[in-house]
Amino acid sequence: MKRLAIFGSSGSIGLSTLEVVRKFPDLFKVEILTVNSSTDLLEAQIREFNPSLVVISDSKKAKDFRKRAGYRCEVLEGDEGLIAASGGGEYDIFVGAMVGFAGLPPTLEAIKRSKRIALANKETLVVAGELVIELAKKHGAEILPVDSEHSAIFQCLIGESSNEVAKLILTASGGPFRNKTYEELRAVSVADALRHPTWKMGNKITIDSASLMNKGLEIIEAHWLFGLPKEKIDVVVHPQSIIHSMVEFVDGSIKAQLSVPDMKIPIQYALTYPSRLPAEFVKTDFPSIANMTFHKPDMENFRCLALAYQAMETGGTAPCILNAANEIAVAKFLNEETGFLQIPEIIEEALNKIQIVHKPTIDEILNCDRVTREFSERLNIQEKINV
Ligand code: MG
Repeated sequence: MKRLAIFGSSGSIGLSTLEVVRKFPDLFKVEILTVNSSTDLLEAQIREFNPSLVVISDSKKAKDFRKRAGYRCEVLEGDEGLIAASGGGEYDIFVGAMVGFAGLPPTLEAIKRSKRIALANKETLVVAGELVIELAKKHGAEILPVDSEHSAIFQCLIGESSNEVAKLILTASGGPFRNKTYEELRAVSVADALRHPTWKMGNKITIDSASLMNKGLEIIEAHWLFGLPKEKIDVVVHPQSIIHSMVEFVDGSIKAQLSVPDMKIPIQYALTYPSRLPAEFVKTDFPSIANMTFHKPDMENFRCLALAYQAMETGGTAPCILNAANEIAVAKFLNEETGFLQIPEIIEEALNKIQIVHKPTIDEILNCDRVTREFSERLNIQEKINV
């Protein structure tokens, strides 16, 4: 029986993880659940899964929640609660399913305790990849990717030696705006951006997917997970999202991992690796797939991907700046305070203006994140840049 700590249990990855747990009640026991503020959902999850500890990031919600009687589990709150739970709670597998930078500190605590990390929170590797990988090596913590592309690459690399890898090829759906011109992108609405053609996900990642920043974060994630340079990490647009990613070897042979899209497959694999267990959440029926197409990503209209390659090459805190500025820009777009095309503009301003620190410590990363957020919040991009 493996004990799970699911950090971010109300988000789309957290909910899918609980669906996997439901399939294997004899294999997994939920010990820790954390949410930001969705306490109604948490209440239902407590009733069903009976964890020993929960954390509610929003302190006010946590206080209200404690007043309601009848929970046998301990209720912690805030960032300190998250750290205390991952640093001191009883569990075997840490599921990192929180959204954004907030996922980093609890993940580091879990790594220090040599836990298995099923990592869906890509920001952890984007902002602190070097530190995270070094720390995981030092403490013998296994990091198993949950992100579908990285799970695909991880699976393709099993049994292969890394010096025979020619390149990683990450597939991108291209999002809902794949065929739009620059002029058309100017006018897209929040609702348009939230209409993803193949994957059903949370709002932040759906916008990142529409801007191609999701793929930008993922190339940086792949760089750290698989230890390959920028030149060996390619992106190809594959709108059907059947091939989740590929590895090309030095002899020209290519391995791919495929299925109709369902995040429960990579989640389950990260929990059960090296075993594969029968679950069949989805069945891939090849005759019903009319075609599979591939295109070069449009990095001129979708500048977020180009900015991510640039930040990866610059290194140091550049990916942290990229990520923090993007989080603020996406929040502004979701609040209809800025346009879709201003997302890369905000990020580019931050990358140009904020000082980059090489070989940053964790404090320098935290500081860079804070400074970038303040800078990006203040930025009134419409006034500064003539579109
Ligand atoms: Mg992905």
